[in-house]
Amino acid sequence: MKTQIELARQGIISSQMKTIAKDEGLKPGFICKKVAAGEIVIPINPGRKTQKTVGIGTGLRTKVNASIGTSSDIYDIDLEVRKARVIQEEKADTIMELSAGGNLDKVRRAVIDSVDLPVGNVPLYQAFHDTAKKYKNPNKLDPEFLFDLIEKQLEDGISFMAVHCGINQFSIERLRKQGYRYGGLVSKGGTFMVSWMEYNKKENPLYEQFDRVCRLMKKYDAVLSLGNGIRAGAIHDSHDRAQMAEMIINCELAELGREMGCQMMVEGPGHVPLDEIQGNIMLEKRMSGNAPYYVLGPLPCDIGAGYDHITAAIGAANSARYGADLICYITPAEHLALPNVEDVREGVRVTRLAVHIGDVAKYPDRREREKQVSLARRDMRWEDHMRLLMFPDKAKEIRASRVPENEKTCTMCGDFCAMERGFSLFENNIKGDKMSVCGLAN
Ligand code: SF4
Repeated sequence: MKTQIELARQGIISSQMKTIAKDEGLKPGFICKKVAAGEIVIPINPGRKTQKTVGIGTGLRTKVNASIGTSSDIYDIDLEVRKARVIQEEKADTIMELSAGGNLDKVRRAVIDSVDLPVGNVPLYQAFHDTAKKYKNPNKLDPEFLFDLIEKQLEDGISFMAVHCGINQFSIERLRKQGYRYGGLVSKGGTFMVSWMEYNKKENPLYEQFDRVCRLMKKYDAVLSLGNGIRAGAIHDSHDRAQMAEMIINCELAELGREMGCQMMVEGPGHVPLDEIQGNIMLEKRMSGNAPYYVLGPLPCDIGAGYDHITAAIGAANSARYGADLICYITPAEHLALPNVEDVREGVRVTRLAVHIGDVAKYPDRREREKQVSLARRDMRWEDHMRLLMFPDKAKEIRASRVPENEKTCTMCGDFCAMERGFSLFENNIKGDKMSVCGLAN
């Protein structure tokens, strides 16, 4: 079986490339060219029965990932399935199943079966979880068990995997030499791998046997997402030498993986102050040859817990604007607890809005829907207005809860409605057929 990147390099436009072109309003040839260059990836796994086709990368709408998963404190498969369904209902583009408590095979399979979206994961979670269960010490992880596990998870239908290949003795040395950090280590997989390397005095097997990781991904045409195990978890650690060392290695590996015919993506932070987001994205794009960049947030400040979905949305709007391609949501429970279903819903909604804001800036020629909403608002066509919004249900709920006397207006200004007054003043000056815009929507 040839991977998408191998097909594209031969000039073959796959059915997935055609679907993406149609969904994004672009030419199939453009998608094929970018897949061949490694600038667009398509997380698929041909072994999975149903799966939505999603493209991630240059020239495409910025995508939203939502992560779920059990913990050692809360293990409820039905809850995770409900969250997965809400993520799909709220139109996120991908899901990551990041369980770390209970029977991990069972929860992964249940989540994959409950949605059509591409499902990603982090194999190190289960590797260390199962090892800790067996030997009471996660540092006893056997690399052979890890590689077998990666294959088992791919067999189950995982379409993209965050694999922490970029942590090696070089990047740990940078961490040691610069002194520990303000925010410490925050990546679960990354921290446990650093611990394994220190305990066993060995190189990271995922780095050492990178070609083996790539061969596995190729076999299932899954996207290899190079995990950000030494990402900054505090804005004071942003772009420190340890994080940059891992980023350089990940970008190097992205190139190697592509050469092997593997679809590659690079992951990024984390916590980054607003003024550093553009630079962060520029560095990743430049060093990786424009590999799709998957950013976790980022959170541009550290004091927002409780509202960190908003904090991260501000980071997400900026990172989408400057070129990030896939953005992981943050929920209101970030830093505080395992998210519940409503946290998940809120997180997806806010992140979708954030990346849309970024895309409005990134693609100035794709602002038609904004124009149509403005026209509907100007002309007080409430039905069109609602239909064109991103969250019509929420907007309708608020309007219905405070009904105005004059149905053309709303209770915000009532008799002092500027829209109504302005419309009556300039109605005869409106050029073109107003009604022609009523039917437009997307
Ligand atoms: S009442 Fe005020 S807020 Fe409401 S539509 Fe009119 S101008 Fe806008």
